[in-house]
Amino acid sequence: MNLTAFRFETDSDGIALLTWDMPGRSMNVITQDVMRELNQVIDTVASDAAIKGCVIASGKEAFSGGADLTMLEGFGSQFASMAKADGYDKAMQFFFDGTRSLSQLYRKLETCGKPFAIAINGTCLGGAFELALSCHYRVVADGEKVRVGLPEVKVGLFPGAGGTQRVARLMQTGDALQMLFKGDQLRPQQAKTMGLVHEIAPAAEIIDKAKAWIRTGNKGMAPWDDPKFRLPSGKVYSPAGMMVWPAANAIYRRETQDNYPAVKAILHAVYEGLQLPMDLALRVESRWFAKILRSPEARAMIRTLFVSMGELNKGARRPANVPPSTPKKIGVIGAGFMGASIAYVSALAGIEVVLIDRDQEAADKGKALSHKLMTDQIMKGRAKTAERDALLAHIEATPDYGKLADVPMVIEAVFEDRAVKAEVIKKVLAVLPADAIFASNTSTLPITSLADNSPKPEQFIGIHFFSPVERMMLVEVILGKKTGDRALATALDFVRAIRKTPIVVNDSRGFFANRCVLNYILEGHLMLAEGVPAAMIENLAKQAGMPVGPLSLNDEVALDLGWKILQAAKKDLGDKAVSPAQEALLDAMVNKFERYGRKNRKGFYDYPEKAPKKLWPGLADLQPTKLDPDTLDREELKHRFLVTQAVEAARTVEDGVIVDPREADVGSILGFGFAPYSGGALSYIDFMGAKKFVALCDALAAKHGPRFAPPQLLRDMAAKGETFYGRFAANKSAA
Ligand code: NAD
Repeated sequence: MNLTAFRFETDSDGIALLTWDMPGRSMNVITQDVMRELNQVIDTVASDAAIKGCVIASGKEAFSGGADLTMLEGFGSQFASMAKADGYDKAMQFFFDGTRSLSQLYRKLETCGKPFAIAINGTCLGGAFELALSCHYRVVADGEKVRVGLPEVKVGLFPGAGGTQRVARLMQTGDALQMLFKGDQLRPQQAKTMGLVHEIAPAAEIIDKAKAWIRTGNKGMAPWDDPKFRLPSGKVYSPAGMMVWPAANAIYRRETQDNYPAVKAILHAVYEGLQLPMDLALRVESRWFAKILRSPEARAMIRTLFVSMGELNKGARRPANVPPSTPKKIGVIGAGFMGASIAYVSALAGIEVVLIDRDQEAADKGKALSHKLMTDQIMKGRAKTAERDALLAHIEATPDYGKLADVPMVIEAVFEDRAVKAEVIKKVLAVLPADAIFASNTSTLPITSLADNSPKPEQFIGIHFFSPVERMMLVEVILGKKTGDRALATALDFVRAIRKTPIVVNDSRGFFANRCVLNYILEGHLMLAEGVPAAMIENLAKQAGMPVGPLSLNDEVALDLGWKILQAAKKDLGDKAVSPAQEALLDAMVNKFERYGRKNRKGFYDYPEKAPKKLWPGLADLQPTKLDPDTLDREELKHRFLVTQAVEAARTVEDGVIVDPREADVGSILGFGFAPYSGGALSYIDFMGAKKFVALCDALAAKHGPRFAPPQLLRDMAAKGETFYGRFAANKSAA
């Protein structure tokens, strides 16, 4: 055999060991070459009488992350060119054959007549876990970092190499559907309990255990190929099946609002597949897979949530002329809501933190958050006491600025007040090393003007976190007019170290994310003022694809903060900068009724102590007119939610705040949950087409006002038939 991705050796018992260890890569990935080599191995194992069976293992720290999604993308572009040259039918046949080749390869392994066992030493996801499922025996290492699972649904796909069929034959149907819908990564014990793996063993023993299983003379036959096999939940058309399927449809609707074709395809593939023998079932799965792979949703989600996010995480915008740095120590000034969490995520990444507040008590209070968060992890069995101690030892809580003398970077998170910030900057710069970087976590103050407080504005930058910092994966890195490359590189190295995704934006009021999300909240407020029932506003926003309704979101970020932002905008930009209807609504909520949001358990919702939140009945009294829900155009209301954000995203491109469409798309999904199936706020426009989007904006502007008016950039793009990714491709390398 001619192998490069694998090593193949046979021991004295006639058991082969196939070690997957691709040269020059840190992680194994399924490529065309890997498939070709695996095919040779299967032929050899099946045909060589001296080989009793084969164990598949990995030579890397992780087992494998799965298939190379760019390989799948490649089928898409080949399909497009073939359809033009040879016609649709021929192209479709090519596409179907190509995209099911992995499924066929795994089926060949499963039915080759010799036993295959797999020894999973580390993360094994997607197509790699589907390989595991096609093996006859699965041993997994009991390591802390080991995860298995089928996360394809998170990029708009589903496990199309037999995953849906094998999972649904290993588990109760309801459980299988849940696992496939969610795409969660599972710890070894969870996977064993669910029946997805057979055995857990210490990492050093997994290969021996797998070999031992083969040595006992087990047949190489999957349970479903045994004529006596019965489905775990019984037949689809049975009283038990009828308990599952209507509920499954309802859950699908609830979880996706019918926005995610891949999830619907999972339902189809499992429902149809479970009524067929395995080979036909796999063919049905492949048909759905080929369809989903060509869906705009899958293409958009793969591009944004896999390709672009990966590129940004690897530092796509990092200036190449600055050598990489590994942050070892930082200072955090202000141990309040944000500062305390920034200290926690930094310490979690092994970075030493000097956490400063006005007095020892305030600093200690900030550090106590880390104690609490780690204790929560311990209670859930996800951390050990020693890990909490180690993390706390990384944080020095103090009011003493002198402790910053050897810190290469400081992040300021004190009150959102120019005078307070100016004072803090002065105090910090008096002790900080001359070449250190100063970062501000401000959410509204322009970085350029804050940098005026520093004699070295080139060393000044914005690092804007989102709350809750522990959970939100996005960080906006903001460039002031004079911010230099070294500050940007240092900030990006830090964001990478804490394993978050950065977008780099130019300075402007609200930067990128807040500009878009404030529009979303505004639209909810305006609908309420128009007389749309509050429940309808919330539900339609979710049906449009937003994770939470605008009223609920406003409750989370606080209504009094909204009121303050409005007043600040009025002061800085004039009365016309705010909507009178929104101002009247917030004035009543905040100043008259003292409803501040979740924080005082009173906002657009009521938050009872021991019951779920409920919309505040008093909202109806704040509506001068009440519209009849049956007369409202639901599609128009849904469009308003997405268009108001997307048009603002387009304006940030026109303003030069966003220079790379990948950042707007990734930022809009990670930062404020913009309809992920769309691929993000700019992909939403690109996939709709600029012309259609501009027409939609014009129609909404005519009816609802100039906030929907498209910028000139969009009109130009519409006239030329351009997309953001086409027009701004050149910016990809700009940093
Ligand atoms: P906060 O009021 O919870 O915390 C501010 C902390 O700064 C307090 O602990 C206070 O004691 C401390 N402080 C004030 N003056 C100080 C001084 N002179 N020296 C040392 N410490 C001082 O506020 P927060 O919500 O954490 O916001 C902090 C910053 O983060 C603001 O700039 C805000 O705009 C920004 N931000 C907030 C959010 C959010 O969701 N709250 C999100 C992103 C950014």
